[in-house]
Amino acid sequence: MHEHWGSNIDPDALARASGAINLDADEATCPACGAVFKTTARRCPDCGLRFG
Ligand SMILES: [Zn+2]
Repeated sequence: MHEHWGSNIDPDALARASGAINLDADEATCPACGAVFKTTARRCPDCGLRFG
């Protein structure tokens, strides 16, 4: 079953499920919006997705 990444996805669940965030790296790419930001921010400055 393939669902599109849509507006009903919980952003926190998406972050955990994707495993795309490496908090050991200096920068991370938000799996929700694609923004690149410093991992020290602990949340995406663009869409507000939380990490860690
Ligand atoms: Zn984002």
